[in-house]
Amino acid sequence: MHKPIPSGGEVDLKRRQAVKALGLSALGGGLGFGASRAALPGPDVLVLGAGLAGLAAARQLAAAGALPLVLEARERPGGRTFTRFDLPDRAEFGAVEIGDSYARIHALAGVCGLEIAPMKGSRPTGLTLHVNGQTLAADDWPESPANPLAGTERQVLPNRLEAHYLASDIPLPRAADWDLPTMRSDDRSITAELRARGASEESLRLVNVAGNHNHSDAMSVLRWWRSALLFSQETGVGRLVAGTGALARCMAAELGSAVRYGSVVTAISSENGFAKVRLTNGAEFRAPRCICTLPLPALRKVRLKLPLDATLRRVISEAAYTQVTVALFDADPFWEEDGLATAMWTDSPLERLFPRTHAETGECIGFKAFVNGAGAAALDDLDEATFKDLALATFAKIRPSSAGRVRYLARHSWGADPFAGGAYAAWPPGQVAQWRAAVRRPAGPIHFAGEHTAAAPGLEGAIRSGEDAAEALLQAAAS
Ligand SMILES: Cc1cc2nc3c(=O)[nH]c(=O)nc-3n(C[C@H](O)[C@H](O)[C@H](O)COP(=O)(O)OP(=O)(O)OC[C@H]3O[C@@H](n4cnc5c(N)ncnc54)[C@H](O)[C@@H]3O)c2cc1C
Repeated sequence: MHKPIPSGGEVDLKRRQAVKALGLSALGGGLGFGASRAALPGPDVLVLGAGLAGLAAARQLAAAGALPLVLEARERPGGRTFTRFDLPDRAEFGAVEIGDSYARIHALAGVCGLEIAPMKGSRPTGLTLHVNGQTLAADDWPESPANPLAGTERQVLPNRLEAHYLASDIPLPRAADWDLPTMRSDDRSITAELRARGASEESLRLVNVAGNHNHSDAMSVLRWWRSALLFSQETGVGRLVAGTGALARCMAAELGSAVRYGSVVTAISSENGFAKVRLTNGAEFRAPRCICTLPLPALRKVRLKLPLDATLRRVISEAAYTQVTVALFDADPFWEEDGLATAMWTDSPLERLFPRTHAETGECIGFKAFVNGAGAAALDDLDEATFKDLALATFAKIRPSSAGRVRYLARHSWGADPFAGGAYAAWPPGQVAQWRAAVRRPAGPIHFAGEHTAAAPGLEGAIRSGEDAAEALLQAAAS
């Protein structure tokens, strides 16, 4: 058993204040919590989604004395955190890395009794490349005939080309400024910025093999600079030893029956100032307020009868998310035979391969393929048998010593996942300031939270966005 998790932020509303603030008088004829609570059929706040943002919002509300109800489509908490607890490495289909700056994640993990171990030791040293049909150690890249680049670009590893051009002369004063209107003149595509800084067409091709985007044409360079500044400020990176999903489990356990799994939201409306939410099974819920943390592609499938402004409507209907497909493989130690590093960067269908290490022994037990963008979408079109054949044939080609020594386990496509639609919001060039402002504005009784609204990165951003939305909601209702 863990101790109750302290809530973050500055919310210090007492139970009675929260009841008043949330307009329960309108719902229950002036009734409050305590003895009268039993007379009230509904929750105070509907929270849509039990990812880290939704769980954090619900906890914050509960800490302020309100009664949240979390509606979650899946049969598990955590959303884009997704640990395979049954595997000896507790493999992650979703988020892994926790920056030292992730203060809320560290605090929550501490209270849950979950250890965050530095990733330094478990990170592979060295890199093997497979480019233009040749497999080689990264050190041999500058001189290799497989290297299609010329001049100074030849010295740069393909996975470092973006950083080579973009990591210096960053015009953002601070990472947090990336979505301010003052940055509009720098809001161009990664491709445009790379070209302006002298990148060759061949380097652009390599950038698009396994970049953290669908395509460098479609992602704002402001998003790239924001991540670069955030990473440069990190003193270290860790991972939850029990699996990232263990944190979501812990937070959800605290909320108990306030989280309802298998609840697929199909419509959200506002009626007489109340939020009304309908599920696929026809069940309906009403509450004075609602916090929606659904990723934008998932929200696109929901019927919305809300006072949304034109920009927000456009963002919901058009926003693209980075397509990511992750596949897991077991392997016998073929790398001892060829002597090459386990971690790989390739222009093959498996793109990037990361070693999976046993949680107790630290031994490499297999690989995780991490495929982005068009490559992910192409794999998603394949049925299991075809995917397995392609993956194993690819292994044999890029590491001949692996033939017959790799076994396919499982894959997860975030792009094809109906409750995600991708790994993270891919902000298009020219829209960042407008779109980011739009996704953060409340619409009637609905407040928005989640990775796409967050100021902080990844997991930390999700938690803080949920807590901030809860706080904003309480304060707005009180004023
Ligand atoms: C492959 C991958 C790797 C990542 N790596 C890292 C990393 O190393 N470090 C890091 O900090 N971050 C990483 N991230 C990002 C991080 O996982 C996310 O930013 C964070 O988990 C998002 O949390 P969220 O609550 O905003 O969204 P989600 O976790 O997506 O939660 C939204 C919830 O809404 C639910 N939902 C959707 N539609 C409906 C519906 N119709 N009805 C009811 N419920 C619905 C979903 O099931 C989900 O549980 C990674 C993400 C991915 C996918």
